[in-house]
Amino acid sequence: MLTPAVTRESSHLVRLDSAAPASGSRKPLFGLDAVALAAYLEKIGQPSWRGQQLAHALYRQWVTEIDEISTLPRKLRQALAAEGWVVDRPQIVQVFRSVDGTERYLIACQNGNPGRPPDAPPDSYADTVETVWMPDGDGGDGGDQTDGKELQATWPVLPVGAVTKIRKISSQPGLGVGLPVTQRKTQRKTQRKTWTRATICVSSQVGCAVNCQFCLTARLGLLRNLTAGEIAGQVVAVMARQGVELGRDRLNLVFMGMGEPFLNYDHFMAAVRLLVREVGLSPQRMTVSTSGIVPGIERFAQEPLELRPKLAISLNAPNDEVRTAIMPINRKWPIHALIEAARRVPLRSNERITFEYVLLGGVTDQPEHAKEVARLIRRSGLPAKVNLIAWNPGPDIDYAMPSPEAVDVFQEILAVAGIPVYLRQPRGRDIYAACGQLKRTIEE
Ligand code: SAH
Ligand code: SF4
Repeated sequence: MLTPAVTRESSHLVRLDSAAPASGSRKPLFGLDAVALAAYLEKIGQPSWRGQQLAHALYRQWVTEIDEISTLPRKLRQALAAEGWVVDRPQIVQVFRSVDGTERYLIACQNGNPGRPPDAPPDSYADTVETVWMPDGDGGDGGDQTDGKELQATWPVLPVGAVTKIRKISSQPGLGVGLPVTQRKTQRKTQRKTWTRATICVSSQVGCAVNCQFCLTARLGLLRNLTAGEIAGQVVAVMARQGVELGRDRLNLVFMGMGEPFLNYDHFMAAVRLLVREVGLSPQRMTVSTSGIVPGIERFAQEPLELRPKLAISLNAPNDEVRTAIMPINRKWPIHALIEAARRVPLRSNERITFEYVLLGGVTDQPEHAKEVARLIRRSGLPAKVNLIAWNPGPDIDYAMPSPEAVDVFQEILAVAGIPVYLRQPRGRDIYAACGQLKRTIEE
């Protein structure tokens, strides 16, 4: 029996159990950190430094099969396989490519669902999530030293009608996926990159329980939490597909995909630890967005700086009345509670808290709303910036996009009030990859 067991300090996700697995069950290696791997290998009579080798193979070389781990003796690889261990890293099963270069992936995650029948197809409903690759970012990282350029406030060029048509590019695994490590390396070298920086938008749950009225993901309800290996594995799968080179390429992560990260807190933070310690990414290039789960923000405030991503809070409304109408969770944690909790997060020098603000035509995009938001943020005294997101439409969601003029005026009012304000570009709207559009929309 594999029981999830995430602790504050480690990324252990499975009980280290060397007993033979029940027939059909699997023991995923992906998700275990170097410490856990070393402990297990020691337990089966191996030197503990083999744990480091195994971790390196999983998180730096991005192997997908135990047999690819050439640093381990063949006998050890065979022994691990015989014990039921598998790599089980999430795999890209479908790719949707937008006209703007954004790619939306359907990623099969299996290791967090031990109850899954062994013969179930990998893309069965509760075992797929969506992850988005945005070459050159979406402008939401403006003003926080990670974007490399300041964002111009420009109106999206994609027509609204584009959302109805989705082009499926491939149901094959992506570039480099599924190839042996050596071939993948060659492929990475020869692949021409057209981007200089990129952002990966990562999911933390399958679906979401929060029920924001304007969000397509909410329509799914919560199907299940993802494990740390499944959250970090989305990143590694996309890095492998895109041939990201650590230390050379500027890669940002935003935990803004499907789900509410702070309602899956332990696994989310364990994934961050894996991404920082094992994969080698910087937490200062990661941003987690919460709809405002106050106990989560309070825990987050306690995390050590060397492991803590930046924080974004989905404010989305100028006052409690409007916020409760569009985000029922505001009844439980109203705006003043969010601000209080945010104040307790110790910030790095130059760090700001991001307030995300979805502009819903006629509902949250009026000049008086902008003035109220400006007052609210100034009164909070928080070092803050605002990311405006023009609402992205979805089927059967009864809101309107804001007019380009309303967006300009809103942004101008905040800017004049001295609040750093950026407009997030709607990336991949034509393939349902933009904010709030992730709902496993698959059309042939
Ligand atoms: N659950 C987290 C993170 C995922 S949503 C959260 O809510 O913060 C990421 C961002 O997308 C949030 O700021 C959310 O308010 C916004 N969003 C949701 N649906 C949207 C839509 N249809 N158009 C534009 N932004 C949307
Ligand atoms: Fe969940 Fe965020 Fe969508 Fe709200 S906006 S339903 S919290 S994913």
